[in-house]
Order: sequence, then C-alpha cells, then structure tokens
Amino acid sequence: PCPNSSSNFVLLLIFLIITNSICISGDITIPNEIISSSKLRKDPASITTASNDYGNLVQEPPPLVLYPSSVDDVINLVKFSNNISAPFTVAARGRGHSVRGQATAAGGVVVEMSSLSSGDQVSNDGIRVSWDSSLGCYYADVGGEKMWADVLRAGLEYGLAPVSWTDYLYLTVGGTLSNGGISGQSFLHGPQISNVLELDVITGKGDFVTCSKDVNPELFFAVLGGLGQFGIITRARIVLEKAPTRVKWLRLIYSDFTIFTRDQEHLISSSVPDYVEGSLITDKSPPNNWRSSFYSPSHYSKIISLLNTKQGLLYSIEVVKYYDEQTADSVDQEIEVLMNELSYTRGFIFKKDVGLIDFLGRVENTDNNNIHQKSSAKAAASVHPWLNLFVPKSRILDFNAGVFVDIIARHNHSSGPILFYPFHRIKWDERMSAVIPDEEIFYTLGLLHSCGAHEAGIYEELNKEIIRFCEENEINIKQYLPHYKSKEDWMKHFGRKWNTFQELKTKFDPRLILSPGQRIFTSAD
Ligand code: FAD
Repeated sequence: PCPNSSSNFVLLLIFLIITNSICISGDITIPNEIISSSKLRKDPASITTASNDYGNLVQEPPPLVLYPSSVDDVINLVKFSNNISAPFTVAARGRGHSVRGQATAAGGVVVEMSSLSSGDQVSNDGIRVSWDSSLGCYYADVGGEKMWADVLRAGLEYGLAPVSWTDYLYLTVGGTLSNGGISGQSFLHGPQISNVLELDVITGKGDFVTCSKDVNPELFFAVLGGLGQFGIITRARIVLEKAPTRVKWLRLIYSDFTIFTRDQEHLISSSVPDYVEGSLITDKSPPNNWRSSFYSPSHYSKIISLLNTKQGLLYSIEVVKYYDEQTADSVDQEIEVLMNELSYTRGFIFKKDVGLIDFLGRVENTDNNNIHQKSSAKAAASVHPWLNLFVPKSRILDFNAGVFVDIIARHNHSSGPILFYPFHRIKWDERMSAVIPDEEIFYTLGLLHSCGAHEAGIYEELNKEIIRFCEENEINIKQYLPHYKSKEDWMKHFGRKWNTFQELKTKFDPRLILSPGQRIFTSAD
C-alpha cells in the first residue's frame, strides 16, 4: 500500500491489528517485530497490578504492561521508545514494594520484571555461584528480578550467603539496589549497594552495559541508589561469604534515650555483633507486631508493666551474634562480656537461639497484606504511608524530644513499628547516587504505618509534622526511599550530588524514559 494514502494506511493498520502484528494502547503502538504482542498486556488484572504498589496510596494506570521473557525484550522496548518522536516512559517493577508509586509509569509501559524468571528451568533459580580468585571472594550472579529470599536459598546450597540484607526478603535485588538496601548488618558491611561487584544494566538509551568499580564506573555508581533513573538492572554480582548456621538473638529494653543510643553506638563500634537494630515501644507501637513476634506472653506482660511506669515510651535494642559449630563453645561468653558493657534496664534482656533461616526470614511474607492478593476487604483497604529518614547523630537528642516524646506521643492512632538504629557513613561509597547525612554516624528512622484508606490523611499529616519539625529546627535529615513533589525539594535532597545526578541522567537517559514514578524529572501532578 502507498504510505501517502491515508485510507490505505488505515487499512494496513487494521490488517496489522487483525493479524496481531502490532500492539496499540493509548498513544503507544509497538510492532510485533519489536516485541511479540503476546508479551504486552492491557487486561484489567495486569493494569491494576501495575498501577499500584504496597503503599496503596497512588494509582497510575499504564496503557501497557510488558511481561518480558528475555532481557532482549526489555532492550527492544527501551530502544523503540528512544527511536520514536514522542517517547513513552518505562518503569521496571520488582515486587511493587514501593509505597509512593515509584514503580508506576503513567502513560508508559510497566515492565513486570518477575516475568524474566518464569522461564528458569535451571537449578538454583538461574542464580550462579562462583569464586573470584583476584578478589578472593565468592559471589552470586543474580537476575535483577530475583528476590533476596532466592539469593539466600541459592547461596545456602554452597554454605554461602550475602553479608548485607534487608529485614524483609521478598524484595527484588534490582529494587533494593536502586534504593540502598538497609538492615541491622549495614553498620558492619554497609548497605546492599556497598556489596555489589558488577552489574548488567539497560540504560535509558537501550544500551546493554556491564559495569563495575573499574569498568564503566560512572554508570555503576550512578545506578546504585539511583532510584531507577539511569538503567534497568538485569544482573547483579553479589558478594557472598561463608554462611553461619546459627544465631544468638537478643533484645534489651531501655527507658532512657541517651543510654539507648549510647549503647547502640557502643555496639556498632564493637567487633562482636553481626547485627544491631533498635525500635521504640509505646502503647500504639507494642513490642510484638507484624514484623516480629519475639516475646513470649509473660515477657510481653513484663515489658508492658514497665512501659506503664515509664510515661508510655521505651526503647529496645536488637543485637545478634552469628555462630557455627566452630564458635559454639565461645559465643555465650563473648556475648556475656559484651552485655556487661551495656546499661539496659536490669532484668530486661530477652534471648533466643535460632537457625540462620529463621532469623533472616523473621519478617513474614506480607503479600497477603498487599495488593497482590486482595483476599479480604481489610487487606484491600490497607494503606502504608511510611516515612523513612536518616537523622544525623549530632541531633538525635533534639529529634527524640521533638519527634518521639512530643509528636508521636501526641498521636492518638496506632503507629506501626518504629525503627531507630545507627550506621557508619564510611560504609557508604560517596560515589554512589544514594544520599545520606554528612556525619560519621547517622540513624535510620522507619515509621511503618499501616492503616485504613480513610485514615491515610492522619498519617500523612503526622509525617509532615515530623518533617516540618526537622526543618524548623534545622535538623538535616535525608529521606530514605525518598518521595518529593517539587524539583526544588529533589535538588535539596541531593544537595551537592544534584548536578552530577542531572548530568548522568542526560548521559544515560536523555529522553527521560526510565522510572517516571519517582517524579524527579517528570512533573509531580
Ligand atoms: P519496586 O517497588 O518494584 O521498585 C522500586 C524502584 O526501583 C522503582 O523506581 C522501580 O522502577 C525501580 N526498579 C525496580 N526494579 C528495578 C531494576 N531491576 N532495575 C532498575 N530499577 C528498578 N528496604 C530496605 O532497605 N530494608 C528493609 O528492610 C525493607 N523492608 C521492607 C519491607 C516491606 C514489607 C516493604 C513493603 C518494603 C521494604 N523495604 C525495605 C523497601 C524496599 O527496599 C523498597 O520498596 C524497594 O523499592 C524494593 O522493592 P521492590 O523490589 O518491590 O521494588
């Protein structure tokens, strides 16, 4: 048919649609030779899942969802978008465990990364474990779509495991490496982004690039903590070490914030612990919650009695020592010496001895709490307006007085788990995109709210009040899993890294295709 004739063109289009050789949705038209139309979906179930996330606060339906069966499908999609006059956006979606629509792509294509694993017929879920003789360490080559639970399973087949974790293992490698990946091991080994040797990345131009500290380092460091702005991670080489088999797991209770944080800092400077976290206990944030059922009923009652005598606010340190057959004889004594150096409320030390898998898997798969499985009306209505902050050590006393003792205590609703524990800045490479406070030690706050949709505004107001308090008192917090609406706020967030971040975006994703749900380079509303 003559391309100049519009009626012929319409006929050709109809012919292509009928023969399934083109996929059109909204403004997006993708020919079959670019991606088989069977992999592009626009059915209500696919669109609903890709519109939402764990937060259940943002709905951004994309016109199309790609279920790739190979990395080439993703390359073809990004390249195709680059080559048309009005490119569409593309968002990799790991497990959609963001809380503010960061993995959505309004007007674009969401890539369901889990689909890359559906063809894995090989052993170990397609995860390859090897030895690097030049570095003298083991590593796993892992698809960006894999979950940390998969990496644990694959490593353990060789008696190996990653050193840095998230509390929750049902998050994807690509998703956490785009943010940071933090937990109680981060003080010792750094976040997950500090424990990656190499990445395969599809840039915003559709180029497939292997990068590391030495090869294409600019892209490597940009992607780590880069909020999905520079490339889609299709493979990560994760450092592995010999896995311990067992865990001594302790919780200590404090009523004094100064002593609580002094002991946390003592622990992260000691060579003994393998994991240190901390949390608040209030009547709205009780000792056992969805993240943890650590305490027996009698221990629970004992803590609640103490809570009632201490103005309804206690602090708890969680500390862990790994051990195995070789160290089983000495571990108890080592812990005893360490505990004697601490000043927790006497009698308020609680201990468990568990296997590694029980410890790392302590936060249960929350999918039944989440949009993937709306099995009950209650789960469907749950929203998670979380707030995650990094707080510089020099201001934690002010933070405690203003946020914990005042704002949170005044809040009449259940707060969900409240985490608060320290990291060493030195374990974070300044070249990475991730942003942290400018102090040697900083704390992470996790306010993990869960509420009904009708209450979301109450929690959003609480979050805003905390941020306002920090601004008014010049506490230089940084958001973790950041969420901002204006360019000015993003510039402030990145601070001295902003210019580099922008230049790297121009270099690796000049047409602003990737991860639009982060709303950094695309307008907020
Ligand atoms: P998604 O939410 O799907 O994606 C997050 C962002 O990364 C999006 O912008 C997306 O486009 C991009 N992205 C996804 N995959 C890729 C890829 N392969 N390449 C490039 N970009 C990609 N975080 C912690 O650090 N520690 C914790 O202990 C922790 N626990 C959590 C527990 C729960 C129950 C939940 C809901 C979240 C938790 N998080 C934790 C936060 C978590 O790290 C983030 O939600 C993170 O985004 C990972 O989720 P995901 O894999 O589902 O990514």
